[in-house]
Amino acid sequence: MTIIQNLGEYKGNHLYIKREDLIPFSFGGNKARKAQLFFQEIDESDYDCVVTYGSGSSNHCRVVANECCKRGMQCYIISPEEANESTFNSQMMKMFGAEINIVPVNEVHDTIEKKITGLKLAGRNPCFIEGGGHGNIGTEAYVRCYQEIKDQEAELNVHFDYIFFASGTGTTHAGLVCGQLLSGDERSIVGISIARKNPRGRNVVLDSVRSYLGDRADEAAVQAATLFIDDYTSGYGKDDKLVAETIELVLKNYGIPLDMTYTGKAFMGMTEYIRDIKGKNILFIHTGGVPLFFDALRKFD
Ligand SMILES: *Cc1c(COP(=O)(O)O)cnc(C)c1O
Repeated sequence: MTIIQNLGEYKGNHLYIKREDLIPFSFGGNKARKAQLFFQEIDESDYDCVVTYGSGSSNHCRVVANECCKRGMQCYIISPEEANESTFNSQMMKMFGAEINIVPVNEVHDTIEKKITGLKLAGRNPCFIEGGGHGNIGTEAYVRCYQEIKDQEAELNVHFDYIFFASGTGTTHAGLVCGQLLSGDERSIVGISIARKNPRGRNVVLDSVRSYLGDRADEAAVQAATLFIDDYTSGYGKDDKLVAETIELVLKNYGIPLDMTYTGKAFMGMTEYIRDIKGKNILFIHTGGVPLFFDALRKFD
């Protein structure tokens, strides 16, 4: 359970923030919430190592490597050389003793297959976790988070008209949408894409929702509930400057760290989205990535 903080009036609306960044393991975040479920399964079975993939700035890889390290388990990370800058996350992955295999992005898939096959031939029992903790287990983590939000609404006596967050692999997004569909709630769940464009990005979310719900999925309802905003994905020039300003503003006004890749973009996207919306209760989910805040801070002057 993570806290929901009341941040007061924001652009004519009432803003709340769910602090997933304060999950008490490895700097928290949505990857920590997903990893709790993946590692629950690992602890209940006889896997003896983990294979996953992600970039040098991946929050997922940091958390998974930390969970492995804590258990004395080997963690193998396949990483695309196109996205391999040194970050606080990559430094921590090394500190946790993860074996990092850097290959061209078009070889990532085959390298993973080879790694898993090789480990099995050597008598090992690897658990493969998809990048970003994608898949039904990751979705389940955010179905549970949605339920948690409902419990907190009852406790705080508030109804959130909108929920905003950064959407990447779409698993967090899918979990929240599934939670909403399963409980039949009226509200808008708005994923701010950090990279993928429509229609592909939204389709990945839809696939995850259908995969999780199975025959409980009502296609029209699934379509209507999935709002995927792709206006802030460029990550260059003008947008970058606006994200940097957003990060500074949120830190100064609320004392909360955001980052350039995920939460800063999402907060900026939310601010734009609510420009003509007034008097609503809005929940922003802080999905973590705090080490990336410090990477950003190093570049501020
Ligand atoms: C991975 C990540 C996201 C995106 O989550 P998905 O479930 O992959 O869509 C958002 N914010 C942060 C900080 C992340 O690390």
